[in-house]
Amino acid sequence: MTLSQAENGPGLMAANRLQHLQASYLREILAVAGRRNMISFAGGLPAEACFPVSLIRQLSTDQTASELLQYGGSQGLDELLTVLRQRSPMPDNHDVLVTNGAQQGLDLILRAFVNPGDRIAIEAPCYLGALQAFQLAEAEVISVPALGGVSEEYEADRLAVLESLFAQQDIKFFYAIADFHNPTGASYSLKMRHEIVRLCEKYGVFLIEDAPYRELRFVGKSLPMLADLSPARTLLLRSFSKIACPGLRLGCVQADKKFIGQLLKVKQVTDLHTQLPGQALLAGLLSHREFADHLQQLRQEYLQRYMAMSESVQLHLPEWVTLRPVEGGMFIWLELDLSGSRLSGQIDELRVAEQAIEQGVTVVPGSVFYPQKQVSAAFRLNFSHESVANIDLGIRRFSRVLAMLER
Ligand code: PMP
Repeated sequence: MTLSQAENGPGLMAANRLQHLQASYLREILAVAGRRNMISFAGGLPAEACFPVSLIRQLSTDQTASELLQYGGSQGLDELLTVLRQRSPMPDNHDVLVTNGAQQGLDLILRAFVNPGDRIAIEAPCYLGALQAFQLAEAEVISVPALGGVSEEYEADRLAVLESLFAQQDIKFFYAIADFHNPTGASYSLKMRHEIVRLCEKYGVFLIEDAPYRELRFVGKSLPMLADLSPARTLLLRSFSKIACPGLRLGCVQADKKFIGQLLKVKQVTDLHTQLPGQALLAGLLSHREFADHLQQLRQEYLQRYMAMSESVQLHLPEWVTLRPVEGGMFIWLELDLSGSRLSGQIDELRVAEQAIEQGVTVVPGSVFYPQKQVSAAFRLNFSHESVANIDLGIRRFSRVLAMLER
C-alpha cells in the first residue's frame, strides 16, 4: 500500500463506460427549483393537483394480498398485461413487457441490442435521459437537426439530411419522439411519420419510439404511431408517469414478440420483475370507468396552462423570441433570433439561466439537450407544473432577464 492510499483510503475506479457519462446540468438546476418562491419551468414534472388520487383511493386492490407480496413473473403482472394489451390494440406480432418507467425500458433495449460503438441516430436537441442512456451504453450518437414539422419545405430539407445519414453510415437505431417532443414540444406530421418509416425500412434501421407524452394531446387529431406504421421495426416505449403519476415508476415496452423475449432476459437479470403492488394499482386505475374523465381533465388543465404561458410570452417577451405552437405535451421551446434584437453575436445561455434563478424562475438552456453541448440560443420551458398565476409571474420574471441582455 502506498502512503497516499493509506491516507485517502483505497481508490475505486469507476468503470470505463461511466467516463462517457456527463453530469446532468438539469439535476443542478432542479436542486434550486425547490427553493421558496422559485417558479420552476425547468423540470419535466406533471401537475401534482392532477394526480388521480381520488381514483386511486377508490380502488379495491388489496395491496397486501399475498400474491402481490410474493415474487412475480418478469414480463409483468397478468392483470396489468391484460389491461395493457386491451387498452392499446397492438399489431399481431407485438407484445408488452412492464418496466420501471420508460427510462428502464430504454436501458433494457440498449443492453439487449446495442454493442459499444453501435451507431444510434437522434434528433438534436434530444431528451437528456436518452442521451445519457446512450452514453452509458457506449453507443456512437449521431445527430440530425430536429425533424418536427414547421413547414413542408423544412420537413423535406430535414428528411434529406436523415436519408443521407442513413445512406452513408451503418445506423442501428433511430430514436424518435413523434408526439410532443422533449425538449421542443414538436410533433411529426403524418407525412413525416410515413417518410421516416420508409427510410428506416429502406436502410435497415430499427426505431425506438419514445411516446410518454402521446396521450397529452389537447388540440388537433391524433396521428398514427411509428409503431403502427412499422410494427416489425419499432420498439415502443410507453410511460404512465405523465398520465397517472411518476412516483409509481411504471412504463412498458411494446415490440415484436421475439424482441420482447430478448428484453425479458435482461429484465430478469436487472431486477427479476417490477414491483407487484404498483402494477396491480395501475391495472385498476387504467381500467377504472372514470380514468378517461381523469385524462380529459388533465388535458384541459394542461391546455389552460399552455395557453397562459403562450399568451404571457407574446405579451412580455421581446419580439425576437419565438414560441413554436404545440398541440400537447408539457414543454415549449423558446428560440431567440438575435439578428432581430439589438444584441449581436451569441448569448451565454447558461448565464441567462443563472440570471433567471436570481430573478426567481428556472428555465433550461437549450444547449444541454445537444450531444456536443453546442450553442443553441433556445430555452426549454415546462408549462405543466406551475399554476396559471405562477406561469404569468414566471414569464414576467424571465422577461426581466432578457431585457437586461439588451441593455
Ligand atoms: N422519455 C422521455 C422523452 C421523457 O421526457 C421521459 C421523462 N421525462 C422519459 C422517457 C422517462 O419516463 P418515465 O418516467 O416513464 O421513466
